[in-house]
Amino acid sequence: MKDIGYIVIFICFFQVAPLAAQTPYIMIDPGHGGEDPGAVGCGLEEKNVNLETSLNLRQLLQDNGFDVIMTREEDVYLTLASRTDYANAQRVDRFVAIHTNASSPPSTGVETFCYYTASTFSFDLRDKIQNEMLSIWQLRDRGVKTAGFYVLKHTVMPATLSELAFINNCTDDALYLSDSTELSRAAEAHLWAIQLHYGEDPEKTGQIKGFVYEYQESNPQKRERESHILLKHNNN
Ligand SMILES: [Zn+2]
Repeated sequence: MKDIGYIVIFICFFQVAPLAAQTPYIMIDPGHGGEDPGAVGCGLEEKNVNLETSLNLRQLLQDNGFDVIMTREEDVYLTLASRTDYANAQRVDRFVAIHTNASSPPSTGVETFCYYTASTFSFDLRDKIQNEMLSIWQLRDRGVKTAGFYVLKHTVMPATLSELAFINNCTDDALYLSDSTELSRAAEAHLWAIQLHYGEDPEKTGQIKGFVYEYQESNPQKRERESHILLKHNNN
């Protein structure tokens, strides 16, 4: 009877431990780079959008007490295997890949992935990233999905891959992707998702919302959309 008691305690500990451990160690993987531009469209290259968003996310995560490492910090080419080998060697707690989408003809919307047979932590983080991205950008919800992308398949820790929006949709998605303030907000959405994933309560007010209001005055095309977003934030 005593032995059974120990077993029960042991199992309970391992069920809650992963989210309650020491400072989470997050690897951010800005997709593509160097000779590999990724998707291109509307005067943009995916590698640059991914990197800018990821650098913003690193700063936000560090400011909020996370340990962070990146697969690349500049415009360099990395193989997919080198990214996952690095993550596995570093024994990071989470792997967050940042990408932008493209299709012919151009489509629209936000989608976030994890591996088919990933752990519940991957599914949870994926779902939260999707929710938070949809809370900042008024784009179509393409849904949360599973896929066999290399970096999802070959990382041993919970991993997600965000497709922020369609880089070759010049009338809608690329308006966000070409705007540095919007990329800061995309990073902030990822911060919120990671905080929620770790049971923290994100502060959803601050600087970045202020920037958004500022450029509403100069960009009528975005005004209506951003008003909607601000309203949504204010209701939170
Ligand atoms: Zn990509």
